[in-house]
Amino acid sequence: MTAKYAIIIPDGAADEPLEQFDEKTPIEAARTPNMDRISTLGKQGLVRTIPAKMEPGSDVAQMSLLGYDPKRYYTGRAPIEAVARNIKLSLTDWVFRCNLITIADGKMADHSAGHISTAEATSLIEELDNQLGSEQMRFHAGVSYRHLLVSKDLDFDVQTYPPHDHIGTAMDKLLPRGKNADVLIDLMARSQQVFTGHDINRVRKDLGENQVSSIWLWGQGKRAQMERFEKKFGLRGAAITAVDLVKGLARLIGFDLIDVPGATGFIDTNYQGKASAAIAALDEYDIVFVHVEAPDEASHGGDAEMKKRAIELIDEHIVGPVFEALQNHQSWRMLVMPDHPTLTRTCAHSSEPVPFAIAGDSISGILHTTFGETNAAKSGFRIDNGFELMEYFLKS
Ligand SMILES: [Zn+2]
Repeated sequence: MTAKYAIIIPDGAADEPLEQFDEKTPIEAARTPNMDRISTLGKQGLVRTIPAKMEPGSDVAQMSLLGYDPKRYYTGRAPIEAVARNIKLSLTDWVFRCNLITIADGKMADHSAGHISTAEATSLIEELDNQLGSEQMRFHAGVSYRHLLVSKDLDFDVQTYPPHDHIGTAMDKLLPRGKNADVLIDLMARSQQVFTGHDINRVRKDLGENQVSSIWLWGQGKRAQMERFEKKFGLRGAAITAVDLVKGLARLIGFDLIDVPGATGFIDTNYQGKASAAIAALDEYDIVFVHVEAPDEASHGGDAEMKKRAIELIDEHIVGPVFEALQNHQSWRMLVMPDHPTLTRTCAHSSEPVPFAIAGDSISGILHTTFGETNAAKSGFRIDNGFELMEYFLKS
């Protein structure tokens, strides 16, 4: 009888102590009786999910916590998103994340063009592909501001920049550099001509919403090749998430994806729907992975109160019910952890270690403390190679 495993990821939930929370972090200030139950019943510690010299993205962090060394497997963000959208890539194709952004006064003003709707964005991307696309360069429409560009027959060795980590920076400081960077710069410049004066922008202007100034190309790579989780750890898995990046990663390791209606990737997501889907999946799969984007989006907006609220909603409507459901299984373990910190002070990701809490079969702690960055650090339990956590979670 194999044990049942549940993993809950409040994306970007880790942070620093904040004055507005009396020097507590958002996790520590939030009401989290269920996360506290796990860290008290079981144990907690700190884990470094971002290896040295790597970008602190959700892709790198979640590759680690799923048991895969990013130093070995990581090829860029965009190839992972391409898998999520079933875009077929040859081994020589390059794929780029293509954001719709807002530029103001020559600076990066908004990485999401005001969280543009998928409908508006799709028609802009289709127009762009009509005007600038070819067999060699194909634009693929996605969700809200997140799209992809696939390039054939060209090789790249470029430095590019995640827009959400450079809000307020002058554009000329962020332009791509390196082999064939000029091709990317030219595409971005020509996209500005397509968008200037476009009907959709005129309506957005009237409504006082951020306009689409340009595409922004970053997160590039070639097709990733990863061993299936079932082969690596002997367990069949499923994942629940609203975000393409996580869907792509889950598919790359052979997890089934479970769609939940109303999962938005924001504070208004369908928490209860995610929990009941996870509980049902525990009957069919050995391991279930539930990812919730809301705390990260709140952090990128610099909104600590919204972040705290998202953490409370995840605790109440997902961690609690899933924990209860696991009690019905003979043998179980549960892991709750952010994938990386996203600091509300800087609105950007950080590479600092994150707290994790584990409970279940033969996992007993000594400290029995409430969940949070401070107590996790005090525990003295530390995993420096994040990809080793999965082995510990499954087999210790
Ligand atoms: Zn993340």
